[in-house]
Amino acid sequence: MRSKNETPEDVRQWLVGAVARLWPLAEGSLSLRRCPCIRKGCPVCAESQGHPSYILYARRSGKRVSIYVPEALAQDIESAIQNGRKLQQLVNEAGVRYTQALKRERMSEPRK
Ligand SMILES: [Zn+2]
Repeated sequence: MRSKNETPEDVRQWLVGAVARLWPLAEGSLSLRRCPCIRKGCPVCAESQGHPSYILYARRSGKRVSIYVPEALAQDIESAIQNGRKLQQLVNEAGVRYTQALKRERMSEPRK
């Protein structure tokens, strides 16, 4: 897949194509909590440590935020977080390949 003589434009097209397939996207972490509810004599709370609930920890404008995630949506959010990690890896790889492509271009150009 990786070409030994790709240009910066080749790298851009590869990255745009790879990113286009990455959806949904999220960054952060999802954690499962068990919280007791407010109902008196709740059988679930009596038997266990409470009701499962998911929290997405993320950042918004540099501030840490936590968002409640219903259990039915937790798998979607987990997939989005995994895609977010892949996106970081793609950007990382793009930087390496772009640098190599720029250097190659510079070497093949006649010196001014
Ligand atoms: Zn309860």
